[in-house]
Amino acid sequence: MPISPDQAQEIADARSQQNTTMRATVPGMEAHLYTAHEVLDHGFIRVIDYMGDDSAICQAARVSYGKGTKSVQNDEGLIRYLMRHWHSTPFEMCEIKLHVKLPVFVARQWIRHRTANVNEYSARYSILDREFYIPAPEHINAQSVVNNQGRGKILEGEEAARVLEILKADSTRAYDNYEAMISDDGQDGLARELARMNLPANIYTQWYWKVDLHNLFHFLRLRADSHAQYEIRVYADAICKVVADWVPAAYSAFEDYRLGGAQLSGKAVDCVRRMLKGEEVTQETSGMSKGEWREFQGVLKA
Ligand SMILES: Cc1cc2nc3c(=O)[nH]c(=O)nc-3n(C[C@H](O)[C@H](O)[C@H](O)COP(=O)(O)OP(=O)(O)OC[C@H]3O[C@@H](n4cnc5c(N)ncnc54)[C@H](O)[C@@H]3O)c2cc1C
Repeated sequence: MPISPDQAQEIADARSQQNTTMRATVPGMEAHLYTAHEVLDHGFIRVIDYMGDDSAICQAARVSYGKGTKSVQNDEGLIRYLMRHWHSTPFEMCEIKLHVKLPVFVARQWIRHRTANVNEYSARYSILDREFYIPAPEHINAQSVVNNQGRGKILEGEEAARVLEILKADSTRAYDNYEAMISDDGQDGLARELARMNLPANIYTQWYWKVDLHNLFHFLRLRADSHAQYEIRVYADAICKVVADWVPAAYSAFEDYRLGGAQLSGKAVDCVRRMLKGEEVTQETSGMSKGEWREFQGVLKA
């Protein structure tokens, strides 16, 4: 169950309150405030707070680049210019604070993004819930044969059933033992900070995660990408939808230049120029390695 009854009540209470403010607000984001968007089997993301909008990005850019921005009159054009030229600080003027519930193995990937502020649920202080990520059958795959860091075909039949059974049984047994160790019924009870060491990495944790828009885009570019592991990608996809409602012009530029765009090396640009002149360029004549050539072909043919 992603949202507990207590949390649902907390969300309803928070959403029933109205505050007046002179600060800029975004209707699309006000609709998201506090609401939980479910991710995986027990996870969610929800917006706790935000600061800034598309105008805040332009306002900062116009202060900082002054006359340089005069040629770009409208906000959307300015934002596209900033994104195209990798200007970062105007995007840092916007901030978002999310409440995220996620499996620990996803949290380990997520926490590598250091340019954010985090406050995590304390499993020293509190007892973790009996909630484990058990993949849906269509997300239980074999090891990829072409990419060491990926998954291949979906497991089927008896093997899939066995894997699911192992995941469920191990999670249950580990949590039963966790409860047995911390129990103070007829015994002292092991400290929570020690008992947790026996829990598997598919148990859920929660944190508040605050990040500025520039670093959020960096996170989303890496984690909403097809190379990212499915279990973190679904969180990134959910955040993308929120960001699209928060800063539509910035998100549209990000989608175009970063998610949909491609970066070409000097050799790749040279190959494109030769191809445009009618030359038949091959991997052998491109000067690129096999891997580079494969990725270049992916950009051209996708
Ligand atoms: C598909 C994929 C596979 C990955 N595989 C692995 C793996 O096998 N092993 C592994 O260990 N990691 C792996 N990672 C994690 C990856 O190497 C990065 O740690 C992670 O993506 C965070 O990126 P970042 O450091 O740019 O982000 P952030 O920490 O948010 O930093 C953003 C930017 O700020 C700057 N910055 C932040 N901190 C510093 C600093 N201390 N010094 C200098 N500059 C700084 C850098 O320019 C950085 O790019 C993988 C990531 C992805 C997306």
